[in-house]
Amino acid sequence: MLPNLQTYHRPTTLEEAIRLIQPPGTVPIGGGTLLIPSRDPAVEAVVDLSGLGLTYIREEETGWAVGATTTLQQMLESPALRERTQGLIAEAARLTASRNLRGQATIGGIVAAGGFESPILTLLLALDTIVTFYAPERRQMPLDQFLRERGDILRRGALITELCIPQPTGLSRMGMAFVNRTPRDRPIVCAVVETQWAGEKCVRAHIALGGVAERPIRARRAEEALQGREWSPEVLDQAAALAAEPLNPPTDFRGSREYRRAMARVLVHRALREVLKSDNMPGNPGCD
Ligand SMILES: Cc1cc2nc3c(=O)[nH]c(=O)nc-3n(C[C@H](O)[C@H](O)[C@H](O)COP(=O)(O)OP(=O)(O)OC[C@H]3O[C@@H](n4cnc5c(N)ncnc54)[C@H](O)[C@@H]3O)c2cc1C
Repeated sequence: MLPNLQTYHRPTTLEEAIRLIQPPGTVPIGGGTLLIPSRDPAVEAVVDLSGLGLTYIREEETGWAVGATTTLQQMLESPALRERTQGLIAEAARLTASRNLRGQATIGGIVAAGGFESPILTLLLALDTIVTFYAPERRQMPLDQFLRERGDILRRGALITELCIPQPTGLSRMGMAFVNRTPRDRPIVCAVVETQWAGEKCVRAHIALGGVAERPIRARRAEEALQGREWSPEVLDQAAALAAEPLNPPTDFRGSREYRRAMARVLVHRALREVLKSDNMPGNPGCD
């Protein structure tokens, strides 16, 4: 529980919510799964976001818009998101939190506070997701940049309102690979790849890694090694090596720096091979 909590607000307009979160000691609350057990003594007031009408998943011109109070379980069950992610949303959501937590935890709360190994953040990063937030004026930025600047942005009092998952411009093919201690445990390291194809050429490759830095990150050099090329076993080896090379992962009780770095290479390779196993991949180069 929050020992110094004195005030609970439940605004029904965005304007009101943005104004209410400004004073020091006041924070937004989504599902409360992380905030309430945190026992944070600095929290004196909470702004409940559930009355703002931010629970939705809808198709817009730019892609799939997901409101900030949409729960992880609603995302897992969305046929549209399953189709867009080739089913990976369900796997990533299951690996992020248990069934009970998924029904409560919101995607806004996860973007605000999700951990360095979060499979759902890693998936959203590979999808080039855009974050909309108010700080206090409306701003949009790629999730990659948001996670980099998250501490500063949220410290100044920001409200995340929406994510947008862009539609692919070409034929999209995805792959995901992870290692965990037990089948229900959160991954120690995970890799998600989204690729877009024109014939046998990969025109766009996004590779995201969780569990290898202080936040989920993109492997930009590896992406460059794949784009504009036909894939061969050598190209895949090179990309996997480039993804792992610059990493300096943290060590904790679940995995050492060396283990996480070695797994990053193995898992990027596996995720790329998953892409090649897709039914509608032309030619299936390098896939056995
Ligand atoms: C004990 C426990 C430990 C967990 N540990 C982890 C972990 O290590 N890694 C992990 O990835 N997940 C973890 N989770 C899962 C957790 O449920 C989610 O990571 C998520 O952060 C919680 O979402 P929520 O909506 O419940 O957030 P809340 O608990 O409501 O809020 C979490 C934080 O995000 C802020 N926030 C919420 N919504 C917004 C918004 N729209 N805009 C701006 N700020 C917002 C809150 O002010 C608060 O600081 C844990 C859950 C539990 C119960």
